[in-house]
Amino acid sequence: MHPTPPLIAALLIAACAGERPPTPPAGAHALAALDLTALRLLPAVAVAAPPVTADAVPAFDRPFADLAPGTSASIGTTRDGYLVGGVPLPTSGPLAARPLSVRRDAVYATPTLVRALGRAAERVDRAWPGSVLWAGDASAAGGGDLPGHASHNSGRDVDLAFYRRGADGRLADIPTLTAFGGDLRAAAGLRFDAARNWALVAALLEDPEVEVQWIFVASYLRDAMLDEARATAARPELIEQASQVLAQPSDSSPHAEHFHVRIYCGAEERLAGCLDARPFHPWAHRRDADLDRFVDGLLPFLDHGWSDELEWAITRLVRMNATSASDRLRRLTSDPDPRVAALATDAVDFLTGRRTPAAWARWRAPEGVLED
Ligand SMILES: [Zn+2]
Repeated sequence: MHPTPPLIAALLIAACAGERPPTPPAGAHALAALDLTALRLLPAVAVAAPPVTADAVPAFDRPFADLAPGTSASIGTTRDGYLVGGVPLPTSGPLAARPLSVRRDAVYATPTLVRALGRAAERVDRAWPGSVLWAGDASAAGGGDLPGHASHNSGRDVDLAFYRRGADGRLADIPTLTAFGGDLRAAAGLRFDAARNWALVAALLEDPEVEVQWIFVASYLRDAMLDEARATAARPELIEQASQVLAQPSDSSPHAEHFHVRIYCGAEERLAGCLDARPFHPWAHRRDADLDRFVDGLLPFLDHGWSDELEWAITRLVRMNATSASDRLRRLTSDPDPRVAALATDAVDFLTGRRTPAAWARWRAPEGVLED
């Protein structure tokens, strides 16, 4: 167990909610120095889903699951992570979860991703009334390993069926996945609808609330959508972004029957331990300055000897992959208290890439790989 001092939790909850932190009690002056409101975090999200219990995700420890009741976060990586406060995809309307994924209970994602998908589907539906974006697997309710997927662990991945037309040219959005060949056709006369699928990609890339890292899709379908973008005179910057985001993965199915969308960690999620893999597209906001300020705010907790706060601060620095704190932590490796020295040594080794203590093995930020 990793204890979470109630005051720190309260500060973080307040930060996520955009409110002023509570007045710290006597003896916690260092905490008062944490001006979390200055981080300008994204507004909190009220979620309907009940709090996820630790039992739901046995494969991954969840020391900060109680970080922000009523808010949500993608924690860890998309391969080794979990989801706090995820919300389910809708089951009807312009965005609808496939019945198969509903039965698998694999329709949960961060509220930001669910909202962005909803906005994108509505935009396509406004231009082509009657369109339905069928969503496949996202994550389990509390995240964690999802059978059949290498990623999909932390609420930032979702599979989407393509928009399709029938042989007669009418909209033919059905909840089954159909594989398209190089001629953009599939069984039963279905055709890949490059116009609507491009509109979906554009809507996701232009969404104000999420930043898309990947949309995995077969190369020839990618080319068809980029051709459509150029033919309809889409903004050159948008086409450039799409050309970097749309990619056929190298180590899994070519994605001839569905998109796989992955978004980057949000700002407040990074402070809670959400880890992105490379690449970081040049237009994506890394918000490293916010992270640095938060790290600076944690450093005073390292001055008070062995305590819940010190343990919490070191663990949090590790989980944020806060390499900038390595020098400060190094001073603690010779602390007279062997517990402090041991934890600090583990942390420095981890953050400098020298050694990965078993307890933190899953918190190593992965290198960029094209995998779904
Ligand atoms: Zn997928």
